[in-house]
Amino acid sequence: MTARVLVVDDVLPNVRLLEARLSAEYFDVVTATSGIKALEICERGDCDLVLLDVMMPGMDGFEVCRQLRRSPATLHLPVIMVTALDQASDRLRGLEAGTDDFLVKPIDEIALLARVRSLSRLKLAVDELRARASTSAALGIRAATPPRLDGGMGGKILLVDDRAHSRERVIAALGPGFEIDVEADPLEALPRAAENNYELAIVSLGLVRFDGLRLCSQLRALERTRHTPLLMLADAEDRPRILRGLDLGVNDYLVRPIDRNELIARVRTQIRLKRYADDLRSNVQAAMELAVVDPLTGLNNRRYLESHLVSLLEQAARTGRPLSAMIVDIDHFKRVNDSFGHDCGDEVLKIFAARVKRAVRGADLMCRFGGEEFVVVMPDTKLSVARIVGERIREAVASAPFPIEQGARAIPVTVSIGVAASCPGDAPDALFKRADRALYLSKNSGRNCVTASAA
Ligand code: GH3
Ligand code: MG
Ligand code: MG
Repeated sequence: MTARVLVVDDVLPNVRLLEARLSAEYFDVVTATSGIKALEICERGDCDLVLLDVMMPGMDGFEVCRQLRRSPATLHLPVIMVTALDQASDRLRGLEAGTDDFLVKPIDEIALLARVRSLSRLKLAVDELRARASTSAALGIRAATPPRLDGGMGGKILLVDDRAHSRERVIAALGPGFEIDVEADPLEALPRAAENNYELAIVSLGLVRFDGLRLCSQLRALERTRHTPLLMLADAEDRPRILRGLDLGVNDYLVRPIDRNELIARVRTQIRLKRYADDLRSNVQAAMELAVVDPLTGLNNRRYLESHLVSLLEQAARTGRPLSAMIVDIDHFKRVNDSFGHDCGDEVLKIFAARVKRAVRGADLMCRFGGEEFVVVMPDTKLSVARIVGERIREAVASAPFPIEQGARAIPVTVSIGVAASCPGDAPDALFKRADRALYLSKNSGRNCVTASAA
């Protein structure tokens, strides 16, 4: 998927020039010649990234950037400010306004593509996660905490550089706002990065004893460091290697002599987006778990069972292997609640789940179907075997009373079980219906017993 770049400049030829360059690299381009117009486009969600001229009549680039950062709809939108070469003070103001990066006029082709590529890649990744998070929200699964989109300060950084002089300069430029670990031995950098959860790695391409690009590619390949943003420090004559690095997945680069504000902007951007993506990722994960796990027993829930059983049934039909399922229903559970209270009932359910889980194989899928009803799906198991498993479960439950309230009380519990085997082409419902009919027979013949469905 290509990113859509908004080019904002009050000078039309500048707009056309950038438009042509970006279109040639297959980016979608939208344009605006004023700050107001730019804000409208951003607010509509019509772009993935903004290339923003600083000097514009009316509303200047700083103000546009500030407004973008203020609105929830645009606060995560990457912004690259286009400044004049000698305006160091502009860059400081840009940082304060919340820009993610800078480009200096006249705009260098490689720098333009590197910045746009790196920021749009991150934007698309974040969008994907945002979409998933909102799907969870639509399903009624609330994210634990909204993702942070902070200023990226205080980040934990690994700096890999075996030249003392160059190291000192970076540390001085970044100042006290970050937590910097220095690695002077490039061979130690990889294991160190894997052991620590860095929010950014800065790698010098001018390493004396190792190829900095090789290190970058290793960091990208390793599972533990795959999501760690990478920033290269390069010399102007390194251009071919810069391009190579960006192709390898390095997020951004900086050319020496290092401009302090530029360095801080790039470092902050990478850390900020990393934090945002990390938070979203763990939210999505937590939400997915919430969606398929029953919180009381820790077993998978009905939603999970129903979707997973479809593939298990397909697999059974394809391979011609048998598959059985059983419904396990606690007998007179209402009486447990009525006599001992709902909390004791909950405790019984927990112990019950653990006991039954121990009585089935790892390959079997045990779910809480609802209330005091549980389902066990047994792949590769024919009805006669499933019946024996059912008997084992029944025995495990009935053999000893359930100790509740830290063993102060013991409640006898029994279960009724209905077992059924799948027929070729079965939908989950058909299988459940047969198991349910068998369960009904168990209940009717006095409970605490197992019935296998005839067909
Ligand atoms: P039967 O032998 O016919 O299955 O009788 P039963 O009482 O077990 O069945 P019934 O379906 O009439 O009642 C189930 C009870 O389970 C009613 C409900 O309050 C209780 N229950 C359902 N979910 C929970 C839960 O999460 N915690 C507790 N404590 N009770 C629950
Ligand atoms: Mg019951
Ligand atoms: Mg019931």
